[in-house]
Formats: sequence, structure tokens, C-alpha cells
Amino acid sequence: VVHDVGRRITSILDQRYLFREVVRRVAHSFNIELVVLYLIDGDDLCETASYFLPEDSYGFWEPSRLKIGQEGICGIAAGEGRPILAPDVSKHPGFLRMLPVEQNTRSAVAVPLKLKGQVIGVLLAESENLAAFDQTDVDTLEALSAYVSTSIENARLYTETLDVQSKLVEAEKLRSLGMMTSGIAHDFNNLLAVILARAELALLDIDDPKIRAHIEQVISSAKDGGETIHRLQDFARTREDTSDFVGVDLNQVAREAVELSRPRWKDQAQSGGLDIEVVLDLEANRTVLGAPVQLREILVNLIFNAVEAMPEGGMIRIETFTDDKGATLVVEDTGIGMTPDVKKQIFVPYFTTKNGGTGLGLSMVYGVVRRHAGKIEVTSQPGEGTCVSVWLPLSPEVEQKIKLPAKPSIVEPIRTASILIVEDEAPIREGLREIFEKAGHTVILAGDGKEGLEKILEADRVDIVFTDLGMPNLSGWELIEKIRAIHPKLPIVILSGWGDEVDPIKVREFGISIVMGKPFSVSELHTALHTVLNGR
Ligand code: ADP
Ligand code: MG
Repeated sequence: VVHDVGRRITSILDQRYLFREVVRRVAHSFNIELVVLYLIDGDDLCETASYFLPEDSYGFWEPSRLKIGQEGICGIAAGEGRPILAPDVSKHPGFLRMLPVEQNTRSAVAVPLKLKGQVIGVLLAESENLAAFDQTDVDTLEALSAYVSTSIENARLYTETLDVQSKLVEAEKLRSLGMMTSGIAHDFNNLLAVILARAELALLDIDDPKIRAHIEQVISSAKDGGETIHRLQDFARTREDTSDFVGVDLNQVAREAVELSRPRWKDQAQSGGLDIEVVLDLEANRTVLGAPVQLREILVNLIFNAVEAMPEGGMIRIETFTDDKGATLVVEDTGIGMTPDVKKQIFVPYFTTKNGGTGLGLSMVYGVVRRHAGKIEVTSQPGEGTCVSVWLPLSPEVEQKIKLPAKPSIVEPIRTASILIVEDEAPIREGLREIFEKAGHTVILAGDGKEGLEKILEADRVDIVFTDLGMPNLSGWELIEKIRAIHPKLPIVILSGWGDEVDPIKVREFGISIVMGKPFSVSELHTALHTVLNGR
């Protein structure tokens, strides 16, 4: 028996299988009617596997729980950490009281299972004969119990390893999804830039109110599309751009998010007859390093999810606390919870179980947390609510910040400028040309970095350069480096489909005036031009 169970150490896949095997082996070898394996669970011993002869059934049973140190011979065996031999169980009234009536147990033996000197459970054997066990059985069972404990520990460790592995696979899946998303976002930003620019140009030439209305619809849809793409980019962001990070008081963020979302959890819920209570327990006492707006946005998202998970009303608990390396933000609800299957996919963009859900909320949360070098953990059971906790690193003493020039609110008249546009996407290039020429500027076009450099060298005058980054021949950054060697002060604006992913260190190093994310509107382009040429 000892040998067999020992061998299982290497071949177990399922803890339950191991437990059943242990009780089966013991029952067969001792030729006894009943063997029960109890494992410690909190303050109790919990029945983990049972073996009954002759039924040989493991069916469904209500696991019994015993108080350690008090109830029956198992409780005492666990409490005192030594085997208890009961040749006549009628002398153990505490034990008899717990037996089902139909059970005719006359004698029993209980052996503690120990791991590194700690009791982890009890193995119990019973018999319908008086004095069925003697000291030899106790010795054998004790020897066996050492193997059983090790096997159980190994099974636990093995299950944990599987768990960690599946988490790694999940992380890897999200990473590749992120890369794909980021590529798609880039392409769509380019498309939307063309749509937006062309539609805005068309608007300038058209007076018919009916057609204008159509085009305005196109513009507003393209802008909405841009918004969606930006949310996807929040999920996919890979570059460590922390230029907008400051010390953030999570308690403040929590209070703001609760206020911002009040219409949703208070007014809207109440008008639907629901009662949702929000409880704040804010104990963070140091600041984290982050972008306050984004952190507020993730909290608002988590609150919305909590509200949506509580169709009958309930409670949302928002908690903050600090440890020595970071601060944690917890949002807990008493809602419907999730199945393990749903839980596995919640961070995947567009995964939703809701009618009309976007499936982008938690993807965005995930991206923002990752960008903050934080961690996110979700615990949830169907019917038992959900708890999301976000850990963020504390803000270090020194912060490096780069400020891009702010957009002026008033557009001032400027002289006409000579503008070099370097962009490999012809539709965008042409759109930009029309936009700037309509405003009276002179435009020089180049389809890649190499051509851009040639144009700069041969032009009489260039006042400002608008350049894309990813281009064939000479990339945007390579072009910028070459321009800087000739014109250290020439204003340069970067047009990027990658949004915030432009490296802020390089932006500062090369004295870039503005980084514009695609898609941009006509007014944003003019504002950028005015800002730079007016030296703001
Ligand atoms: P959406 O809310 O648009 O469905 P999210 O990305 O915010 O998208 O959430 C994805 C899915 O995760 C939800 O559809 C829901 O199934 C699950 N989920 C998120 N938060 C909770 C919560 N607090 N309780 C239960 N399920 C949740
Ligand atoms: Mg949501």
C-alpha cells in the first residue's frame, strides 16, 4: 500500500482521484468497511474522500465537518497530533453521536496526516467488529500517512503550477492580441484621417443644407470611430510612455469617479426601482505614479460593470490601501458574479456577455494598468459577486515629465507659411495639401523620408515640417535626425497613427513641436500650425 501510494506521487493529475485512491487502497488492504480522509480546512476537519464497502460508491455525499480538538476521535487525533486507537467506540460517545444510524461501527482508528510537523488532516478507518485494529495497524497506517501527506502536498503544488501556467498562457494571448490590435488601430487611424480630412474639405465647398447634413454625419461618425480606436489603443499600448504621469492620490481619484458615475448608480438605478449603495473605505496614505485621468476612467469603468452586474440592486465597495511598494484599489460588488469561463476572457477586446455591451471596458482597464506597471486581479463566483483589485506602484521621489505645448484657445492670424508634408499614404498627403492650400499656405509634398530630405535641401524656404513616422526608405525619425543636422530649430510636427506611443525621450531630444495622433480634424491641423508658427 505504502509503495503504491508513494508511486502515485509522480503520476497524479487530479487531487480527487488521489484522495479516492488513498481511501480505496487502505480499505482493501485492511479489508475494512469504511475509510474516511479528512483534511484541515480553517478550524475544521472536512471530509474529503470516503470509501465504503461493499457499495464501493463515491457518489454524492454531504461532507461532514468536525471541530479540531473537540469532536470524536478524529478531532482529538488532529488536535493532539497522535493516532487514536478505539477498540470499542461505545467508549467514545462523541464519536458515536456523529455516526449515521444505519452505520454499525464497533471499532476505529484515526491517524493524523502530518507535513513538516504540521497536521494537515486525518485518516480514519472503521470496522463493524470489536477491536478490529491493533498497534501493528496503527504503525502501518502511520507509515502510510507520511506518504499520503507528501502526495497531497505534491498534488496541491502541481495544481498550483498548472494554474500559473494557464495564467502565463493567458498573458501571452493578451500580448499578441495587443500587437494585432495596435496594428489594426494604426491602419484605421490612417483611413479615418483621410475620411475626416476629405469630408471637412467637402464641407467647405458645399452649401446645400441636405448634403451638408450627410457630410456632417460622416464627420461625426469618423470622429466616433477615432474614439473607439483610441480605446483599443489604450488596451494595446506597448510603449512605456509615462510623460503624463504624476503623483496621484488614489483616494481623490476614487471620490471623483464615484461622483462622475453617480448618475448611473444613483439616479438611473433609483428611477428603475433599484437601490445601489456605494461604500468608500479609503485608506491609501501615499501617492502612486500615474495618469489621473486614466486612473479615474478605469475606476468609472469598474463601477459601471459593478452596476450592470446588479440588476436587483446591491452594494459597491471601493477600497484603497497602501503597502510598502504600492497602493491597491479594490472595487467589490454583490452582483451576479462570473463563471470561470467568462472570467478567463474578460480582458479580451470585444468580449462581452451583455446585450449592447462594448466589451472594451476591461480591455482598456487592463491596458492602463499594464502601462502603469501595475497588476490586476479578479475574483468572482457565479452568484457571489465580483472583486477587482488593481495594484499600482508608488510614485518615486524624482519624476521626469515632458510637457508638449498646450493648444491655444484663440487662433491668431498668421502669415502664410511654406509647409513640407512627408507622408507615404497618398490620400492623407493629398488631403493635407488641400487643407493647407485652402488656407493660403504653400505646400511641398514628399512620399517618404528620402524625398523629404531632398525637398528640404532644394526648397527656397520651409517654415515647418509635418512628418509621418513609419515610412519606407528613410523613416520619420531618420529624416528628423538629418533635418536637425541642417536646421536645428526648424519646427517639426509628427503625425502619428500610433497615438501616444511616440517615444517621449526622442520627442524631447529632437525638439519636436507637437505630436498629433491620427485621425486629426482640419481645425486641429490649423491649431497646430498656428501654435508652432506663433512660437507658443
Ligand atoms: P462590457 O461591460 O461592455 O460587457 P467589459 O470589458 O467592461 O465589457 O466587461 C466584459 C465582461 O466581463 C462583461 O460582459 C461581463 O460578462 C464581465 N464582467 C465585468 N465586470 C463584471 C462584474 N463586476 N460582475 C460580473 N461580470 C462582470
Ligand atoms: Mg463594461
